Amino acid sequence: MSAIQYKDANITVYESALFRTTSTLIETDDILLLVDPNWLPNEIECLQLAVHRQRNNKPFFVLFTHSDYDHIIGYRAFSTAQIIASQAFVDNKGRNKILEQIKDWDDENYIRRNYPIDYPSVDVVIRADGQQLKIGATTLTFYLAPGHNVDGLFTIVEPLGVWIAGDYLSNIEFPYIYHSSLAYEQTMAKVTPILSNHMIKMLITGHGDIALDKSDILKRKEDSIKYITDLRTSLKNELPFDFEKLMKAYHFPKIMKQFHEGNVKLIKKELGLFQ
Ligand SMILES: [Zn+2]
Repeated sequence: MSAIQYKDANITVYESALFRTTSTLIETDDILLLVDPNWLPNEIECLQLAVHRQRNNKPFFVLFTHSDYDHIIGYRAFSTAQIIASQAFVDNKGRNKILEQIKDWDDENYIRRNYPIDYPSVDVVIRADGQQLKIGATTLTFYLAPGHNVDGLFTIVEPLGVWIAGDYLSNIEFPYIYHSSLAYEQTMAKVTPILSNHMIKMLITGHGDIALDKSDILKRKEDSIKYITDLRTSLKNELPFDFEKLMKAYHFPKIMKQFHEGNVKLIKKELGLFQ
């Protein structure tokens, strides 16, 4: 069984026992959409059952918000789905490394799965901001969201007003930057326009709690930008960054220190500073 973080007539947000990773199932009159089915075999089975129950011959899509291994781990458990992801996801040269991460993780944790591990083959490729997929009265609008990694994607589901954000705008993690801090900031610059162009009622993040109002979403954006700006400023000026103060807002200082150190390394490289 998976824990359910949120449920209404159209939307179920499942939450894995691991890293509070969300898997979302959205049912409209026109489609069934599953987002980032993830982590443990019994959690994946729970999603399979839900899809089976709710399918009713509707077109079935699986959306990958990005290619980090924890988000694509359940891909082949949903063989009848049409897959949605970004062009950068399709072009990702790191796919073998990602598959190795899944295999290593399963091995380290004695996990056996009853489906193969594979890199998703994409049917609906998203190439540009504002690209839409319309099925009946349901519209999906996409925005490219690189920065955290290279191939992130924001998806707005209308008329439900749901924003699927992947690993951005989390309330439990500061920005984890694997790709580019500048791209991350450019992606955050899309938040306000998205909020003006769409009637957003709910934001679903890849790890942590959904946000149900605009002010919460904007606060998460501001927190993300502040973290990046503060870190860059401290590195540029060789001033200490107050990690302990940052950790007052978060819960897992040991592992998060490692992600923070990763950000330090990446931004130093961007600034042309070497350790
Ligand atoms: Zn993630």
